[in-house]
Amino acid sequence: MTDFTQLGIKAIRDGVANGDFTAVEVAEAFNAAVADAAELNAFIVTTPDYALEAAKKVDADRAAGKQLGSMAGVPIGMKDLFATRGVQTSAASHILEGFKPEYESTVSQKLWDAGAGMLGKLNLDQFAMGSSNETSYFGNVANPWKARGSNATLAPGGSSGGSSAAVAARIAPAATGTDTGGSIRQPAAFTGITGIKPTYGRCSRWGIVAFASSLDQAGPMARSVEDCAIMLEAMSGFDPKDSTSLDMDVPAWAASLDANLKGKTVGIPKEYRMDGTDEEILKSWDDGIAWLKDAGADVVEVSLPHTKYALPAYYIVAPAEASSNLARYDGVRYGLRDLPDGAGLQDMYAATRAAGFGDEVKRRILIGTYVLSAGFYDAYYTQAMKVRTLIQKDFEAAFEQCDVILAPTTPTAAFALGENVDDPLAMYLNDVFAVPASLAGLPAMSVPAGLNKDGLPLGLQLIGPAFDEQAVLNAGLAIEQRAGFTAKPEKWW
Ligand code: GLN
Repeated sequence: MTDFTQLGIKAIRDGVANGDFTAVEVAEAFNAAVADAAELNAFIVTTPDYALEAAKKVDADRAAGKQLGSMAGVPIGMKDLFATRGVQTSAASHILEGFKPEYESTVSQKLWDAGAGMLGKLNLDQFAMGSSNETSYFGNVANPWKARGSNATLAPGGSSGGSSAAVAARIAPAATGTDTGGSIRQPAAFTGITGIKPTYGRCSRWGIVAFASSLDQAGPMARSVEDCAIMLEAMSGFDPKDSTSLDMDVPAWAASLDANLKGKTVGIPKEYRMDGTDEEILKSWDDGIAWLKDAGADVVEVSLPHTKYALPAYYIVAPAEASSNLARYDGVRYGLRDLPDGAGLQDMYAATRAAGFGDEVKRRILIGTYVLSAGFYDAYYTQAMKVRTLIQKDFEAAFEQCDVILAPTTPTAAFALGENVDDPLAMYLNDVFAVPASLAGLPAMSVPAGLNKDGLPLGLQLIGPAFDEQAVLNAGLAIEQRAGFTAKPEKWW
């Protein structure tokens, strides 16, 4: 009997379409796997009935000879940042606990329209702020991987840590993620899976709980480059409800996948060779260069001179936007309301926000409010926005010389839970290779490159010019074919 949980998007969709098995069989297998893996804490809410309902519809449509969608029969996990009608949407916060939206996010609706079903709402760092999933109000997620010879529980990355853990543990064939400054790519790298953040504006932000609106972008997390291409196509497209949505056709990324890189040039940014980067990360970067050469690409060194300012600029811009976006949680309209006896409106705001937000969220609101305050706006926010433009220009200049950029995804492999929790700066450093592409709004992907000496996955990052997801996917495919990454976390599959 097929173990359905080992199958990815394409294998499930094609198997259902060919009548090799039914969508209901697949949904039941994943529902059972989700229930068995409760100790990972990957889901905040499970919705087995939703997965079954969607599967029944796909099976009925097939029986009636109807055209099936590109995700037909594929049950997925939905990051709990996407509004789902009638199903708790908490952003892993206390302040939104119990909030059941009256509407569906554009991206999730597109996935359901393509025939996908929902296994549940995936855990994340609270309001997507974090790199380890430890800021969730609903407790941390466990990375299904363990270092060889150690029993320590590792972080699955963040903020899409429930998504990464679920896909790596084979309890979901794919999941949605969102990436503001690395939240798809870093967790993908920490768990040996593939994830792509498309060009800013490809996926509608409508119905996604906002963190930093000029950076937030949704994307797929799956087990292969091809699966990511299929799912990204289903998620993308113009949406009049999002004023920053790209009014462009969605290319046929999956059908155009081509790992032959003859005539393509890959850029290696010299500023990413940072002091203190783990030797094994540098070695996997060299492997990636060799693989892309083997695929026919020319490799050149490129310069992104403002790289060292990207992280500080991100940690000004992102909190600034967050402080504004999170002002809406005031106890009046959403979720939690803390109304002390005899309190007035101001007291209610203060009490609700004090009780409803976690420490990291409060830290970001404080930083954001400070950098936007009249006395410091020019010194911090305006400066950071100037740096952001310089970083965009760095990439534009680099892409005059190359078609795609290859870099590590993260400076280290997965770290243990608790390791960075008291040191926000160490935690923020995780994003050092991820945030430049976010600030520039560029498509970027992480693909598994191998295991380090402790048996933990490492990821390689591909960054492309705006709108050229295809270049990223093609180079990613060339790496995937050569890395031969078949390792899985022990026990969890
Ligand atoms: N780790 C980064 C942060 O905490 C990125 C988060 C994200 O991309 N949502 O801001």
